[in-house]
Amino acid sequence: MHQVLIGPTIGAPEGQEMVGRVQALSQSASAAQSFFIPEIVSLGEAKVMAFIAAEPGLEKHSLYLRDALRQGEHVLSPESEQVLSLMATALSASQSARDILANAEIDWPSITLSDGTEALINNAGYGLYRQAAKRADRIAVFDAFWGTWKQFESTLGATLNGEVQANVATATARGYENTLAYFLSGDNLPTQVYRTLVEVTNDRIDVLHRYFELRARMLDVDDLGYHDIYPPLVETDVSFSIEATREAVMESVKVLGSDYSGTFAAASKERWMHVYPQPGKRSGAYMSGAAYDVHPLVLLNHQDDYNSASTYAHEWGHAMHQLLTNENQPYELADFSIFTTEIVAIANELLLQEYMLAGARSEDERLYYLGYALEQMRGTFYRQVMFSEFELAIHEAVERGEALTGSRMTQIYGEILKRYHGHDAGVMEITDREMIEWAYIPHFYYNFYVYQYATSIAGAAYFVDRLNSGSKAARETYIKFLEAGGSDYPLEILRAAGLDMTSRAPYDAVIDRMDAVMDQIEMILENREG
Ligand SMILES: [Zn+2]
Repeated sequence: MHQVLIGPTIGAPEGQEMVGRVQALSQSASAAQSFFIPEIVSLGEAKVMAFIAAEPGLEKHSLYLRDALRQGEHVLSPESEQVLSLMATALSASQSARDILANAEIDWPSITLSDGTEALINNAGYGLYRQAAKRADRIAVFDAFWGTWKQFESTLGATLNGEVQANVATATARGYENTLAYFLSGDNLPTQVYRTLVEVTNDRIDVLHRYFELRARMLDVDDLGYHDIYPPLVETDVSFSIEATREAVMESVKVLGSDYSGTFAAASKERWMHVYPQPGKRSGAYMSGAAYDVHPLVLLNHQDDYNSASTYAHEWGHAMHQLLTNENQPYELADFSIFTTEIVAIANELLLQEYMLAGARSEDERLYYLGYALEQMRGTFYRQVMFSEFELAIHEAVERGEALTGSRMTQIYGEILKRYHGHDAGVMEITDREMIEWAYIPHFYYNFYVYQYATSIAGAAYFVDRLNSGSKAARETYIKFLEAGGSDYPLEILRAAGLDMTSRAPYDAVIDRMDAVMDQIEMILENREG
């Protein structure tokens, strides 16, 4: 994850107070600057462009000024802007209601697993026990978990409908062509990126079905169900200390050239990381590049397993992106978008996967890394495209004036879920039980966010393929992309690096990669059976 949020740490009052002061300062600074964009817009394009042409000092501000003009087309009259800002809290009430219900008010059931464990099937319990080795346990977990969500279908339908209605109303008020265009406009991305992503994924849905068939074979079941998705295909005891992780990542990034790997070697030796979990520390992992003239900072919660090693590669991918950007861009152009930097971070994860795979000492170890890669592509690519398709479908339904209820959402989600999992093709049976899954996904309140998981792994797969060709030009182009930081819109920066995110190429690259991983797994399985 990449984020620049500063959050208070539990149990550190001094830190909380400093964060409070920074937040107050930042709020008054942005209030004091609020006149700025409307004034730029009121000057008009011709005048602003003439200023930029005449004054070399404006060069590093040019992107910001052009962006203000572009977004200015959707700025309303002062009265209308005031109405929208007065409505802001009311428009987010649906999400707040959903969060409270899902995280605090639902009374989750407990079940007894086959080994006698009393398992509370809340969100955390679901995440844990859905991986159970015994199938009867997984089925019981799914029955309990989805059965509970189903009781709130109408309420959660009303909250999600409220969210979608607010989005559509805002996009319409601001004069956007549609809600998708509105939410992609922040990064100046054409909706074609989103539509091509969904189209290619559907054209090649058979590759996902191939994965499920392989999973059925490896789990040895002939009636694969939705409750069979999560148990790991291969277990491993490979362990990654933080030192071993750093060594492995250092080797894996050699494909990026000696400048990059030298910078990484030096930077990762500095005390820029907080590595291990500790009481009061926030969970997850992220990189903060907010202090432009200092250095990036990395937060991890390293647990000595491969997933932690992969996270290390990911966050250092962000940190290296920030370092190279800061060396080459002024402060004004150093703030790259999530759309580009997630590609960079996942590319480093893929490089680590390839390095580990090449050095694996046993077939089991090879199978482990291949299984990890496969599951990452299912979860980060196909599943996120499926969510993206649903998110678009419910917004388009409201744009057409259709009524959206919880049961209608279940119907829409169920159709998509069946298509992705090959229900009609006999690959996996999808039942009414899991068609309520939409109610469980908080991301549907994040305003067209999830598609970026899919575009990120697709872009990463594309670049890693190029880098693997060993060509010096491919390497130099990639490093230039990292150095470009936030000097242009993401689509243009990527285009300059040879990647067109409106074309099929990146989405084909990640799907081809998934196919190739399955070829390798099947070869190992056939050797064993043969
Ligand atoms: Zn990230």
